[in-house]
Amino acid sequence: MKNLSPTEIRILKSFLRVLLPRSNKIPVDVDEIKVVESLEVQFKALPRLIRIHFKLGFRIFQWGGLLYGAKPFTWLSPARQVGYLDFWERIHFYPLRMMLRLLISMCYVNYYSQPEVYQCLGYSLPPVTVKRERAESNNLVIFPKKDIFLKTEVCVIGSGAGGAVAAKHLAAHGHEVVILEEGDFFDVNNFNEEPYDIVRKAYRDGGFETTIGFPLIITPTGRAVGGTTLINSGTCFRLPENVLEKWNEQWGLDISYKELAPYFEDVEKTLHIEEAKEDVLGNIGLKVKKGIEVLGLQGHPLRRNAPGCQGAGRCCFGCPTEAKKSTNLNYIPEALRHGAQLYANCRAETIIPKYDYGAEVIGTFVDPKTGQKCHQIHIKAEILILAGGSLQTPLLIKKNQLLLHNSHVGRHLTIHPAAKVIARFDEDIEGWKGIPQGYCMDEWREAGINFEGAFTPPAYSAAAVSVSRQQHRSLMENYRQCASFGFLVSDSGQGRVVRLPTGDPLVLYNLHRQDLEKFKKGIRLLCQIFFAAGAREIYTGIHPLPRVNGMGDLVIMDQLKMKRTDLDLGAFHPLGTCRMGSKPNQSVVGPFGEIHGLKNIFIADGSVFPSSLGVNPMVTIMAFAARSADHVHRRLTH
Ligand SMILES: Cc1cc2nc3c(=O)[nH]c(=O)nc-3n(C[C@H](O)[C@H](O)[C@H](O)COP(=O)(O)OP(=O)(O)OC[C@H]3O[C@@H](n4cnc5c(N)ncnc54)[C@H](O)[C@@H]3O)c2cc1C
Ligand code: SF4
Repeated sequence: MKNLSPTEIRILKSFLRVLLPRSNKIPVDVDEIKVVESLEVQFKALPRLIRIHFKLGFRIFQWGGLLYGAKPFTWLSPARQVGYLDFWERIHFYPLRMMLRLLISMCYVNYYSQPEVYQCLGYSLPPVTVKRERAESNNLVIFPKKDIFLKTEVCVIGSGAGGAVAAKHLAAHGHEVVILEEGDFFDVNNFNEEPYDIVRKAYRDGGFETTIGFPLIITPTGRAVGGTTLINSGTCFRLPENVLEKWNEQWGLDISYKELAPYFEDVEKTLHIEEAKEDVLGNIGLKVKKGIEVLGLQGHPLRRNAPGCQGAGRCCFGCPTEAKKSTNLNYIPEALRHGAQLYANCRAETIIPKYDYGAEVIGTFVDPKTGQKCHQIHIKAEILILAGGSLQTPLLIKKNQLLLHNSHVGRHLTIHPAAKVIARFDEDIEGWKGIPQGYCMDEWREAGINFEGAFTPPAYSAAAVSVSRQQHRSLMENYRQCASFGFLVSDSGQGRVVRLPTGDPLVLYNLHRQDLEKFKKGIRLLCQIFFAAGAREIYTGIHPLPRVNGMGDLVIMDQLKMKRTDLDLGAFHPLGTCRMGSKPNQSVVGPFGEIHGLKNIFIADGSVFPSSLGVNPMVTIMAFAARSADHVHRRLTH
């Protein structure tokens, strides 16, 4: 089940030959490079449901050839195979279109991440300027040799934005803290690897976590010591005041901005947050700045947690210079220095709440090399803090049936759905030289649209763009001349995280129709900006109008009656699945993150936010986690 069968490999090979033929600019024969091997490795890392989807898809695609050419796909002549794929590309029925789209995206990622291919595009990995001896600490256990039994004051599950901050604060207050982290430990020595290898190792499900709904949206998260902060873009915003006011009004939180301010200040100091320097914004930042100025709009460099950033262009694949201050570089080492113990490669699975103390937790270690489960850790903790992130924390609660009568667990999911456009210029842009997300535009933030940079290495842009094969090839061959920019939308709708009877997670999310208008507006404005900066053509991410060649085409865009499934979207900020509120019948946790009805069990991650923030959430998650940790400290000392 985890492997591709010989027939599936045969289908894949034929499919790749049709999808990615040799061309003058990319004179690479797909059979001569390791795309299939790479696809096989990725396939194993996919979530089970997606693997089933692919296996089904292979069969539909293979036998669909009977309807087209009276033969299964692999039996058709090469010319007929091309025609058959053209036929599939014209299919409008969304489930079939998405099935093909996912398969094509996987092929593109694995093809364009081969050095033989990306070198033809002029892309190269940045030189690594920092090398380190692997940090040794007696308090960091990457893989134990036997089962472990422990008693502690505080157990924290997850070491990302929320977990690392809570653990550090409590350890610094002198409490015994044990952190369990499902992901492996990575440091700068890993970050000279191919982006694709980092995604496979440090992203959950090999980067293929996705929402199911209209449209289907890839929603990746990190799984590593440092959580998603290890692979995020480093953009830093405080919670907008109007959002806090709404939370206070609607969910009775009674949290003042004055109370939060010292927590924000502390996070900003620890992460060394400062405005990105103009000299590392790269050509994309400069083009966008020019377009914005021509149109008379307001833009500026983003505030980031990356002092001394050298513009190495790969924040989402681990910063190779340690400029970006993810939690594995500050909160985690500080927590360990204060005596906390961190167990990596350990997934917390069982939670048994206790009435005389917090909870018993059982975690299982998985060998990162073989994927085999081996030893266990048994912990008795006075306080348990769940910080597994918005997609995992509700699953853990559901799996352990901790809150059978609370219908809000897993609901109210917001994701900040995001879009980007790719613009081609006449001159070289080399978007990989510079900060991928370094510049922003304030226009329309109040209206729920937040414009920010969004550049990715060729393999990931290739996977994100759905245009015809010919247009795709032309885009990728000219990737050196391409710039991209994007925006996220403050969700009007909500989704939910469900645990299937098989134990598999399912993330359901439909884009709200109101947000469709925001996307139309946002994409149009980005096109205007890029045309004002001199772009030749723009790939819009809108299915019925994938490419525009000038301002005249924007009139066609205005007249489009767009459907939700016409958009290519991603999402990077799942939030809200265990929302905070004063009333147990409206929420999962109280104002300090304690689960209603479960004394001494807290949640300190993005899942506690009652609504979309409209801005990137890391700093706010950290500030709230620190505030919850102070509350736990008071509980433990009084
Ligand atoms: C590509 C990308 C770019 C982003 N860019 C930005 C940005 O520029 N600015 C910004 O503010 N935000 C950004 N974000 C989002 C931000 O990083 C996250 O919102 C934030 O890190 C979430 O914090 P968290 O504590 O909720 O969860 P995470 O940081 O995801 O940490 C959760 C951790 O818990 C672990 N875990 C889960 N379940 C278990 C279990 N059962 N046992 C043990 N461990 C477990 C996970 O492995 C993970 O390491 C980005 C996200 C992505 C994917
Ligand atoms: S652009 Fe990102 S990856 Fe490159 S040095 Fe700056 S923070 Fe690090």
